[in-house]
Formats: sequence, structure tokens, C-alpha cells
Amino acid sequence: MIELTDAIGLVEQTASPLPPRRQRLLDAAGRRLAEPVVADVDSPPWDRAMMDGFAVRSADVVDRAADVIELEVVADLAAGDVSTQPILAGGCARIMTGAPIPPGADAVVPVESTVGDTAAAHAGRRVRFREPRFRVGQHVGIRGAAFRARTPVLPAGAILTSAAIGLAAEAGATHVVATARPRVAILSTGSELVPVDAVPAYGQTRNSNGPMIAAAVAACGGEPIQLGIAVDRPEAIRAAVMQGLAADVLVLSGGVSAGDLDLVPAIFAACGVERVFHKVRLKPGKPVWCGRLDRGPGQPPAVVFGLPGNPASSLVCFELFVRPALAILAGLPRDRWHLPRRRGVLTAEAKSAADRPVYLPCRITRAGARLDVMPLPWTGSSDMVGLAVADGLVALPAGVKADVGVDVEVLEFASGAGE
Ligand code: AMP
Ligand code: MG
Repeated sequence: MIELTDAIGLVEQTASPLPPRRQRLLDAAGRRLAEPVVADVDSPPWDRAMMDGFAVRSADVVDRAADVIELEVVADLAAGDVSTQPILAGGCARIMTGAPIPPGADAVVPVESTVGDTAAAHAGRRVRFREPRFRVGQHVGIRGAAFRARTPVLPAGAILTSAAIGLAAEAGATHVVATARPRVAILSTGSELVPVDAVPAYGQTRNSNGPMIAAAVAACGGEPIQLGIAVDRPEAIRAAVMQGLAADVLVLSGGVSAGDLDLVPAIFAACGVERVFHKVRLKPGKPVWCGRLDRGPGQPPAVVFGLPGNPASSLVCFELFVRPALAILAGLPRDRWHLPRRRGVLTAEAKSAADRPVYLPCRITRAGARLDVMPLPWTGSSDMVGLAVADGLVALPAGVKADVGVDVEVLEFASGAGE
């Protein structure tokens, strides 16, 4: 059994950043580009109307702009329409935002500048307008003004925000090379487990860890791959573990403590997974197992976790050990590897185990500069009721009974609701 800080240190040493991957544009949202995005088109792609109105020849307007000007409408151009018919002196085209400016025209007079009842003038009619502040070339988006084909529009290192995704999409990037989203295989072991949609019979337990770990992986920016349930038979677990080892990370739950059917450590060993640690001085979560599978030179190792089966233990171990591993694989900076640790003041008493530090669900509220920490009722490792509404975990060293007002350490959950 090792100390928690040592175990966390070992996780940090075991995980290393994944090489960048070519991925579908949308899958790379939030990732960092490893190669620039190069446009395959100009933007605007052609000279384009930026207002609804009339495409005119500036020469017909510029010296008479203070007067009412009358032009003949020779074409109607909606977005998507193209015209090769040139606009000659005295003519114009009715044009909608987004349509290509027809040959001969070089400015747009907005529909708001029309006079009389000519705003609705279509081809074959005449339009009258007054545009005292007319500028040559007004309201035309010039081809290539924003970016040019075959030039980079996003540099390596840029974060793919929604805006960057929009720009890359316009530039024709269906795929990008960006920091990898760790692929995380999730496996639940236990002959008692049944899928979530089943009503458990006597002796059966729903596989609640499956969706819980998948959600936690997704919240950390990983890509969950659900392998479902393996019964407590060596062949069944071994086959599923082999499948899971193809991913960047395997997170298994159950079968790592000291019971007769805790087969997992031996199976990991048989599959070539090297143990990094097993058992940590921690409550809940003592049986946790961590290892690595080396895949040869130049290949990042698979990081492997065996989390205790009890859901609260699984979640606490995920937050303490799996979260930093995923952050490191994803190439995040060190200050984003762990949940933030803060100091707060207990508003109800709390106590730890005699032999191990505890991490208990708590509410955290801000009282000015101070954090108030209220431990939530918790009946043990299988009890998710408090954790499900917790803002974080209050950490107490071994053998402590802390009264109201005592200064404590809390691990604050990232607010998952997107509020
Ligand atoms: P184990 O770690 O396999 O000894 O399991 C400890 C406890 O956790 C047992 O009561 C299991 O039934 C329960 N458990 C194991 N796996 C899961 C799971 N995937 N979902 C919910 N409970 C589980
Ligand atoms: Mg079990």
C-alpha cells in the first residue's frame, strides 16, 4: 500500500502526451492544432454582395450621388444565382446578400436607399435611389479580402474554438491534425452485474459504473469506448482486457480487491501490463490498481486502471488518478491536470478513518473570500446519493475528527452543468 501523493506522482510519470492525430474537424473541437489549416478557396470566394439592394456601376453614381439616380434593372440575382450578363452604363441588377456581383457592376446600393415605390423593382423595371454618401466599391466583399486559397488560415498551436471550427470549415478542412483526444476503453467486471436497462434480480447489481465512468471520461475531454460487462471468469475478463488494451487508456472496474473473484491483477499481468501500483492509503478507493502496457519504441504506452467496483470508490479514484492521466495524454498544461485543491472552513463536523485519509462528498459555498464546506451524508463506498449532488470532496488526513470552523482542504469538481 502506498501513500496518495506517491500514487498521484506515479500516475504523472506513467502518462505522457499522445502524438497529434488527424481527426474529423468536429471531433477536434477544443483541441490544439498541430498543423496549420490551409484554405482551398478564397474568402470571399468571389466579389460578393454584402447588402440586399442593387448592383451598380460606381461610374454611374459617384459624381451625382446627391441627386436621385434612376437605373434600369436588367437582372434579378438571389444568393446562389450567377449571371454572366454584363451590367452596362445606366443598368443595374437587383441583388441579394451573398450573390456574386455581376460583371460590370462594382458597388451595391442598399434597398433602403431607394425612393418612390421602386424598392421592389425587378428586371425590366427602373429603380430610383438617393445615396449621398456613396463610396466606390461600397457593400462589396472583395474576393480574397479575408483569406486566399493555399494560404494558412489557422496556425499550428491554435485552439479549435467554435469560431476556429467555422473558419476551418469555410477553408475546406474536413479533417485536421490536432492534439489527440484520449480513447478510453471502459470495462465493468462482475458476474453480478446487469445492464442499466435491466431490473436487477435478487443478487444482481446494475452496471452503474459503465455510464458513470463514460461520463467522467467525456467530461475530461476523452473519447469513451464502452466495452460493457465481463463476468468473473478469467477467459471472459482476459478477452475484454485484450480488447481494451487497443485503446490509449483502459479503465476497468471491479475485481481488484482481495476477494476470491478478484482476478484482475493476475489477468493484467498475464496480458503484459506492468504494475505501477496496487492499493493506496485512501478511503474510499484503497484497492485501486494502476499499470502500463509498453507498445514498443515511439509508441505511447497504454495506461491501465483497475478501479474498485463500488461506485463511490470508482469515482473518487477516477478523479484522483484517471483524470490527471487523461489530461497528460491530451497534452494539457500542468495546472489543468488535477481538480483544483482549495482551503475551506467546515460548517459541520467530519471525521476520517483511523488508518487512511478520506475524501468525502461535500457542498462548497462561497462566503465572501472564504469557502464554506459542508460534508454531505455518506453511508459508504456504494453510496452515490451525496456524491451526486456534491460540489467537491473534502480531504481529511487519517485519524482526524474535525469540528465546525476547522480549516480543511477541498477538491472542487468542475461544474458539469455548463451553467
Ligand atoms: P468488487 O470491487 O468487484 O469487489 O466490487 C465491489 C462492489 O461493487 C460489489 O458490491 C459490486 O457488486 C459493486 N460493483 C462492481 N462493479 C460495479 C459496477 N460496474 N457498477 C456498480 N456496482 C459495481
Ligand atoms: Mg467483483
